[in-house]
Amino acid sequence: MRMSKMYMPTLREVPAEAELASHKLLLRAGMIRKLVSGVYTYLPLGYKVVRKVEQICREEMDAAGSQEFLLSAIQPRELWEASGRWQDFGPEMFKLVDRNEREFCLGPTHEEYFTAVIKDEVKSYKQLPLNIYQIQTKYRDEKRPRFGLMRGREFIMKDAYSFDVDEEGLKKAYEIMWKAYDRVFTRLHLTYRVVQGDTGAMGGKVSHEFMAMSDVGEGVIAYCDKCDYAATDEKADVVYRVDNTGDELLEVEKVHTPDIKTIEDLNKYLSMEKSKFGKALVYNAGGETVVVIIPADRELNEVKLINYLKIGEHELEFADDETIKAISGADKGFTGPVGLSKDARLLIDSRITKMKNIVVGGNETDYHLKNVNYGRDFQGEIVDDLLLVEEGDICPKCGEVLKIDRGIEVGNIFQLGTKYSESIGAKFLDENGKEEYFVMGSYGIGVTRSVAAVVEQYHDEDGIIWPLVVAPYHVIITVVNTKNEEQTELGEKLYKELLSLGYEVLLDDRNDRAGVKFKDRDLIGIPIRVTVGKLAGENIVEYSLRSSKEKIEVNADTVKDLVLEEFVKAGLK
Ligand code: ATP
Ligand code: MG
Repeated sequence: MRMSKMYMPTLREVPAEAELASHKLLLRAGMIRKLVSGVYTYLPLGYKVVRKVEQICREEMDAAGSQEFLLSAIQPRELWEASGRWQDFGPEMFKLVDRNEREFCLGPTHEEYFTAVIKDEVKSYKQLPLNIYQIQTKYRDEKRPRFGLMRGREFIMKDAYSFDVDEEGLKKAYEIMWKAYDRVFTRLHLTYRVVQGDTGAMGGKVSHEFMAMSDVGEGVIAYCDKCDYAATDEKADVVYRVDNTGDELLEVEKVHTPDIKTIEDLNKYLSMEKSKFGKALVYNAGGETVVVIIPADRELNEVKLINYLKIGEHELEFADDETIKAISGADKGFTGPVGLSKDARLLIDSRITKMKNIVVGGNETDYHLKNVNYGRDFQGEIVDDLLLVEEGDICPKCGEVLKIDRGIEVGNIFQLGTKYSESIGAKFLDENGKEEYFVMGSYGIGVTRSVAAVVEQYHDEDGIIWPLVVAPYHVIITVVNTKNEEQTELGEKLYKELLSLGYEVLLDDRNDRAGVKFKDRDLIGIPIRVTVGKLAGENIVEYSLRSSKEKIEVNADTVKDLVLEEFVKAGLK
């Protein structure tokens, strides 16, 4: 491609709306543009990268025996009613109505639809196992669309679905997909970690997330260096040791705590460790008021709460002051488990039941209670673990200390079981002629999010540093002075030669200052660079890689060999 003809609106200024490197650089490099919040246009350079990522997904899915479909983005409400997810997805679902008042959504994912597609058409165990996929645009009205391609409201996903006769078959399919995902992310040159994930609204019990490591990732990972334990913070089990389980029970004492509304205040006022307090959190959860009591030195894991209550993510919100007053009789900050109104559902993290003589809110403004004990002073629904993992926690698998890191969730695999086949009534006949529900798995890769993840891992202050495998072009030839005939001629010659060898080449033949051209080429991140300048008359050019500061002068005839070398190094030839 000749850059004099190319649509590549690069920006010198950093767009104010962008915080992350990937967002800034994709905008600045003229690869994407925002239409509205969370909705992007892919410009030629950006779309080339997207297509390369798609192609890697496609090749690995095909190699794993999956077959490509293309389903519609438009899906009827009935399908989602059947699975119960019309409600569960809530406001995240883009909904629409046709001229006959029939309701639809723009698919946020396709479990229901794929199940409906194979229902009645795959009838026998002989047609199983089956694995099918698509690469398609998804729509989610995210609460906080942000970070460019990272969290869009429209994005491209590769989604695959497996159908098996039993759990054993599902486990095999899951492993095959896991390996295919390993290959996809390895080919994308991402540094990533596979971690246990929460299955949440998706259903099923087992899931894993593929996390591209990045300090700016929204995903939080707890992992152990000693064993292979790794889980998202949403999923990680918390081992919390209570150290005073054997203490003698003391008499409840009412203490005056004027204006002491936070755990920090209380900590100072009573000069007692936070771990001796029980913290109350009051929620509106799916139409009821729920009070949760946890050790005050810890945070609540809302995903664990949502899963326990079996409600949708959007159905959980903090209760307002009025509700708090109605169930506790006191202002916010003084809620506790003793003498709480029966209108509230009281959930207690199991660790609270082991702690002795704790301090809790007194359900009376400006008062707390000391020496409160579970069983003697209050009771409620005990929930095994509602805590959010934190650095330094004990590994639930081996007892070592857990570390915390951040990542970008680029892929997710789920063992779904029969949730969708049962709700949609998708059955096959087994060996004995008996009807059984398909045992399913689903597998997603965020194609556009992966593009952003690659940029997060491969950039510097000047721009993107694309790995060769996904670079929009392999080689860029910069003609320093287009008014100079020798330079222009040599540039053209090299351009044609590399094109004829099948490389994707950019020729910077623009009539611009050299500085502008060099800045642009750094920004757009083309991996292999050839600069045709003053020594063109001697058939000498400068050769360099975007990933290194080194520059060498070489005979122009050797450029093709050097390019080939890079392809061999990258395992592409
Ligand atoms: P998240 O927790 O980040 O919201 P998710 O669990 O909702 O992700 P899945 O439903 O598992 O995501 O979707 C499969 C893949 O699609 C994810 O692993 C991610 O790479 C990608 N993805 C999900 N939501 C978005 C989004 N809003 N923008 C871009 N990619 C997304
Ligand atoms: Mg999501």
